[in-house]
Amino acid sequence: MEIRKAAYLVSSPSFDKCPKADYPEYAFIGRSNVGKSSLINMLTGQRSLAKTSATPGKTQLINHFVIESSSGQKGPLDKWYLVDLPGYGYAKRSQSDRRRWEQMIEGYFRKRENLTQVFVLIDSRHGPQKNDLEFISQLDKWGVVFSLVFTKTDKEKPAVVERNIKAFFDTLKTTWQFLPRHFITSAEKKLGREEMLAFIEGNNLD
Ligand code: GDP
Repeated sequence: MEIRKAAYLVSSPSFDKCPKADYPEYAFIGRSNVGKSSLINMLTGQRSLAKTSATPGKTQLINHFVIESSSGQKGPLDKWYLVDLPGYGYAKRSQSDRRRWEQMIEGYFRKRENLTQVFVLIDSRHGPQKNDLEFISQLDKWGVVFSLVFTKTDKEKPAVVERNIKAFFDTLKTTWQFLPRHFITSAEKKLGREEMLAFIEGNNLD
């Protein structure tokens, strides 16, 4: 899939303020500093579509981008929404901000009808983290379809990345019957771009 155009559309405080659910929607979320903005920029081929390293916890909104893409074979021009969601794990977030985030996120995940897939980003430099595991359990309880995206894989030796990913899945295996799909990425090296875009394209064709 080729990205033809990617543009910021709007930021919304709750799911019912989001743009009309006209197109398939792909949401990105993860712990603060996981590399979400860098990944979104890498996927869309735009250097500063999503703001990298914005003040942590400041932007507590649902951010919609409109993506126009075309398939590898002379296919029709496709439109879809890419959504940059505020993440979790900000140490400095106040109780009331946290509660607001929880409500916004729950509303969005439970009610956004065009939500096709959620990409949960996991920092490949670390072993399984409690807040990542808790978050994906919550998604599962809500019946949300998600994939895991391991980020920043250029930052560690391949053996360390492999060990961390294995440890993550080993932890999941203790309680999960079905394991989620995963992607191995580096925004720095543009790794995983083709795979993720092909997956999004495949999803869109279904
Ligand atoms: P966000 O807070 O999740 O949006 O994370 P950012 O995209 O702002 O990235 C946080 C930090 O990690 C920044 O300093 C990025 O330059 C760095 N970073 C993000 N992705 C990668 C990557 O794939 N490789 C490397 N080496 N650094 C990355």
